[in-house]
Amino acid sequence: MPDVASQPAIDGWFATDESGQTHLIGAKCPQCSTYVFPPRANNCPNPACDGDVLEPVPLSRRGTVWSYTENRYPPPAPYPAPDPFEPFAIAAVELADEGLIVLGKVVDGTLAADLKVGMEMELTTMPLYTDDDGVERLVYAWKKVAA
Ligand SMILES: [Zn+2]
Repeated sequence: MPDVASQPAIDGWFATDESGQTHLIGAKCPQCSTYVFPPRANNCPNPACDGDVLEPVPLSRRGTVWSYTENRYPPPAPYPAPDPFEPFAIAAVELADEGLIVLGKVVDGTLAADLKVGMEMELTTMPLYTDDDGVERLVYAWKKVAA
């Protein structure tokens, strides 16, 4: 079980194994092999498929930058934002094996100027906020793969 002092901000979108590696949890249609993220239990997104059961699957931990942007303003309430606000980058990362593009925050210290389309990225987690019980709430995030 994960350390009680840190928990996902949203349950069921990612998991961390014993070696400390985090992967996203997607869902896959057993009929046509289409993947979705965030995971859901039914309603295959492939219009040519009538599958209505999606199975949870771990997704690739690495992908390449498909697009990216930078948030320079704090999000509106109720979304938590640090004060003072620090700009952060958001990357749309393409998972080649799954044919999925997953939008996520980029770790602190990496801004849009540091990113390039096609760059290899790896999944990690970062604290989003600390809740009223003092528990650090985590979100998945993308970081550059060390050269
Ligand atoms: Zn399907």
